[in-house]
Amino acid sequence: MSWRLSPPIETILAKGRDGVPLERDEALQLVRLDLESRETYALMEAANHLSRTTFGDKGEMHFHIGLNVEPCPMDCAFCSLTRRAGLFTEAIEFPEADILAWARQGAAQGADALNLMTTGSYPLSRLLEVGRWLRREVAVPLVANTRDLNHAEAEQLLAAGFVGCYHAVRLGEGTDTPFRPERRIQTIRVLREVGLQWMNCVEPVGPEHTAEEMVELMLLARREGATYSGVMRRINFPGSPKEPQGMISERRLAQLVAVSRLVMGDRVRAHCTHEPHSLSLVAGANLFFPEVGSSPRDLTADTGQGRGQSLHRCATLLREMGWNPDQPSNCF
Ligand code: SF4
Repeated sequence: MSWRLSPPIETILAKGRDGVPLERDEALQLVRLDLESRETYALMEAANHLSRTTFGDKGEMHFHIGLNVEPCPMDCAFCSLTRRAGLFTEAIEFPEADILAWARQGAAQGADALNLMTTGSYPLSRLLEVGRWLRREVAVPLVANTRDLNHAEAEQLLAAGFVGCYHAVRLGEGTDTPFRPERRIQTIRVLREVGLQWMNCVEPVGPEHTAEEMVELMLLARREGATYSGVMRRINFPGSPKEPQGMISERRLAQLVAVSRLVMGDRVRAHCTHEPHSLSLVAGANLFFPEVGSSPRDLTADTGQGRGQSLHRCATLLREMGWNPDQPSNCF
């Protein structure tokens, strides 16, 4: 057996390792590599090298706080908070005392950002209110994760104290969700126009997604100037319409994290993965999302009592893999 890498792959990796963003056909070749191949491990090494030289030692923790639960009428196929999943039959807005306690916990335990997530029909006016009062209570940067926005609404978020928005064109957008991909991209552009940072992830990846679909979204993140991107796998809750399609392994996830990292090149400020796990931390990821409140992956209303991983657990995973969560964030 030869110990040499395939020469075309070696050329792509040498370029990516130096921070030169990959082209579509190059990324496609990497997504299609056999997981057991030497080339896949070399890919992860290249992405790891690029992240450690670009981000220093910084391990990021952006604390997801899901503000409400509802049987969401948008009925996205992969989400546990939908009306059709039938898991949650009542709308719950977490009390301000809980939200404040979580925000203070984030501040005390080293969160680099608070990502405030809402379901599809949560009033924007309420999110703005929460932003305004949290801004006075904690110094941690606020990031919104909410519905599509027009220009005026994005300006309101900025005025309320948010510094950025997490917004993604999801895999299956328009078929698994009722939203048009073009409208999602419009929102992303509006964010940039008003001066909000745009945070992204290629998600929620399942085994059925093609290399072309995934690479298209990786390239979108680079083209539209995401502060960070990365890859999240789909978690199939019991009874999910996606259950028959299964889930990708953490190993496949790490490979995709690495490809996405090389696509982003040297301009991004971090690279994320979800849910938190070790392997992607040696494949280009340095950003985790600890979670409390509602989660579209959980059966428990407060994911802090369910699947969600704590700040403490995420900090431990980061440290174990040589990332330092105590340094200042590179993102803000
Ligand atoms: S992903 Fe968001 S919009 Fe879609 S069903 Fe879930 S909560 Fe509603």
